[in-house]
Amino acid sequence: MTREDIIRELKNHTNNVANLSQKLGKSVAAIENDLEHIRTSIRNDKSLKLLIQPASCKLCDYQFQNDKIKLPTKCPACKKEKIKPASFKIIKK
Ligand SMILES: [Zn+2]
Repeated sequence: MTREDIIRELKNHTNNVANLSQKLGKSVAAIENDLEHIRTSIRNDKSLKLLIQPASCKLCDYQFQNDKIKLPTKCPACKKEKIKPASFKIIKK
């Protein structure tokens, strides 16, 4: 399984890290690491764009920063751990 597989998945569907981990049989940490690399390489690619729907708190709707790939563990606003993970999609520019 390669980064190309992740890119293909993200072109076809919106996915979060847990989805990708399950579909591709890789650990969450490995997927996060690959996504960081994909983001960097896509930044230099004029034809593709990585869209990130940022993580948010399920309880108070706090929105995490747009560029965070790793899942935050705790909401800084309400201090709870009910986090809706960020989701990712790759589109053609
Ligand atoms: Zn919160």
